Amino acid sequence: MSSRGNLFIVSAPSGAGKSSLIAALLADQPADMQVSVSHTTRQPRPGEVHGQHYHFVSVDEFKQLIAEQAFYEWAEVFGNYYGTSRRVIEQTLAQGIDVFLDIDWQGAQQIKQQMPEAIGVFILPPSRDELQRRLTGRGQDSEEVIASRMAKAVSEMSHYFEYDFVIVNDDFETALTDLRAIIRSQRLTQASQTITHSDMLKGLLAE
Ligand code: GDP
Ligand code: ADP
Ligand code: 5GP
Repeated sequence: MSSRGNLFIVSAPSGAGKSSLIAALLADQPADMQVSVSHTTRQPRPGEVHGQHYHFVSVDEFKQLIAEQAFYEWAEVFGNYYGTSRRVIEQTLAQGIDVFLDIDWQGAQQIKQQMPEAIGVFILPPSRDELQRRLTGRGQDSEEVIASRMAKAVSEMSHYFEYDFVIVNDDFETALTDLRAIIRSQRLTQASQTITHSDMLKGLLAE
């Protein structure tokens, strides 16, 4: 019997490197990890694929999904709606697969209320200047959008203390190693190991 998967909430100010870290983590398609694909009403960026990066929907479609209680959590971020599908998360965790939510702090609070055992990870950039460089360097948002995301960054970062773990994404490989260590440690808790190794433990502890 495999243990139920862990739910990881990963938040960061836009540009801190959250999407890059999650992409690197899943690059070789591990069978026991999956990122949740959110629904959003924002326009796709160049190269973004419907169903892969996001499910891109209209405001009307999004409101319909809210009415159907399809979302585990949803929030308005930078003037667009974003939401996490309830069904996909529950089905995936039940299969013993760890799920990663790339969501903002408002969504994180909603998830923690419903599932206190979810593990929060906050990614910080090493400085404000570096955050600005990364947002500009990504080259995918207009100057106006970048300015508004920078303005919101400080208020987003002020929520870092609501999370269980904090990673500073200065050197990328170090940050990735830190993220992997957090995931591994959660699979080694006594509660997890008791389920994962139930047969072995029966043998070890038999009278
Ligand atoms: P990026 O983080 O700058 O690459 O921008 P995105 O457009 O990918 O994400 C915008 C914001 O929406 C971020 O703060 C995400 O954490 C947040 N976000 C993405 N998906 C979800 C979701 O399903 N629920 C919630 N609550 N927030 C989300
Ligand atoms: P987020 O998903 O948090 O908005 P991204 O993953 O899109 O951030 O990263 C923003 C930009 O910063 C991207 O161009 C990415 O390649 C770059 N980046 C991410 N991590 C680092 C790092 N440790 N050092 C330098 N650049 C980075
Ligand atoms: P972007 O528009 O740059 O893709 O995302 C902007 C912000 O929205 C990011 O901080 C991202 O984490 C957040 N976000 C993306 N999807 C969701 C979601 O489903 N729910 C919530 N609450 N936030 C999301």
